[in-house]
This record gives sequence, structure tokens and C-alpha cells, in this order.
Amino acid sequence: MWLIGAHVSIAGEISQSFDRAKALNCTTFQIFTRNPRGWASKKLEENEIANFHRKLDETGLFPVAHMPYLPNLASPNKEIYDKSIKILSEELTKCYRLKIPYLVTHLGSHMGTSEEDGVRRVAEACNIAIKDSEGKVALLLENTAGQKNSVGHTLNHLRKCLDLIDDQSRVGVCFDTCHGFAAGYDIRTRNAVERFLKDFDDIIGIERLKVIHLNDSKGDLNSHLDRHEHIGRGKIGLNGFKALLSFKEVQKLPLIIETPYDSEKDYLQDILTLWSIARGQI
Ligand code: ZN
Ligand code: MN
Ligand code: MN
Repeated sequence: MWLIGAHVSIAGEISQSFDRAKALNCTTFQIFTRNPRGWASKKLEENEIANFHRKLDETGLFPVAHMPYLPNLASPNKEIYDKSIKILSEELTKCYRLKIPYLVTHLGSHMGTSEEDGVRRVAEACNIAIKDSEGKVALLLENTAGQKNSVGHTLNHLRKCLDLIDDQSRVGVCFDTCHGFAAGYDIRTRNAVERFLKDFDDIIGIERLKVIHLNDSKGDLNSHLDRHEHIGRGKIGLNGFKALLSFKEVQKLPLIIETPYDSEKDYLQDILTLWSIARGQI
């Protein structure tokens, strides 16, 4: 059973994310459990949690959560850093209550200090948040495109960060294809994907790869541009996605698009393209 899905909205009530995912032919989906562009969040009501559980049972869809954008786990600013850890811990607990198994997070920006310092602060933040949270939700570190000051665009940096986490059962990796390609990891052909997966296995361990964000890239290989494009319409191209999805290690993972939401039609088209690849129709 393939897990193919999209990032969907929780507008209205959080459990409505299931309905949106179903309407898009998804078997998995990703949500923000709170406003991604603000610090504040309202508490989840018991009935919202119950509705979420009911739809989880009814649909069998696989939910994934993503951290909001403002927290910066690599920040050298104490106030921002502490606030970020608090939100990370709250989100881990919220996922546990909702029965969401994975929380994806960016590593943040080191704000001009250094990648090494940034990685150390991220790991420390994760350790504190994991200890302070309820449940056993796994935190997935997402690779970045390598924009200015961003932490975590190389496999080696992700590995360094993972190594500093106390409870190894609580961490893994979410690989974003657009970010990876922009950071210099070629995945346009079967040979290139094979090389990449081997590198990933050598450096991080393939068993730590838990989710893939499938996004094509507006920017070229090594451009360090974080600009998502619809599947097959960017610089990775349809062949790249066909190559990636031909590997069995990839086929069992939640594969989630975060392509531009220009229109419902484009978004749905991306999902249908992925299903066609999965079914060997294109
Ligand atoms: Zn992300
Ligand atoms: Mn992503
Ligand atoms: Mn991005």
C-alpha cells in the first residue's frame, strides 16, 4: 500500500484535514497543528481530538505534522531559542494526543554564527523538548536547500545533529527533494538516485529516513534556492521522480507533496501524477 499525499489545511477544525486529504486521493497527509506564521496557538479541545481519532480510524490515512515556521532551534538569541524549545515540546505532546507518529522540523538558522554551533544548539533543543514532552512521537529533521545561514543542508550535518540526540528512538530524517536538489544532491536519473541513496545509507543510515517531501525544484542543482515546483515541471523533472519511486526503500515511506498551491487542479494533478508513477502507468 503506497502512502502518497499532500500538505493540507486544518481550517475550520483540525479533523477536516482528513476530508481534504481524501478529496485529493491521498493515503497520507501533512498538517500544521497551529498557525504556521504566528507564535500563539489555541489549545486543542477534547472533542477536536476525539473527531481526529474517529477519522483516523475510519479512513486509515497516515497523518504527519510539521512545525510552524517562526521557531528557530538554531538561534543564538536566548529568548527566541527558549521559546522555540517550548513550542517544539508542545507540538510533540500535541502529536502524541492526536496519535500523529511524526513531527517534521527544520533545523533553523544559525544567524551567522556557524553551522557547527547551529547543529549543537538544534540537538540540545531537541533533547530538552523530547524530555519535556509526553509520548513517543518521533522528531524528523528536514534537510534544507542551503540558503544563507540555514542549518542542515548536507547529509553530514544531519548526521552530526542526530548523533547528539540522547534518545535515538525519537529522531529520524525527512528528506525534501527540492531542498536536497538545490543543495547539490542530484536525483534526476536512476543512477543518480542510486548514488544518493547509497550516500544516505553510508552517512546517516537508510532506516532513519522516515518521510519524503516530494517537491520539484524551480532552482537548478546546487542553486541553494528553496523554490518548490509542481511534480515534473521543475529542474528535477518527471524522470527524477520516476527514478526515486522505483526504489523499494522509498516505496514504503509516506511521500508528501508541498508543491505551490496555485489551484486545486494543479495540486490534484501532482497527486495523480504520483499515483500514475506508483502504478507503473507512466
Ligand atoms: Zn519543512
Ligand atoms: Mn519540505
Ligand atoms: Mn521549502
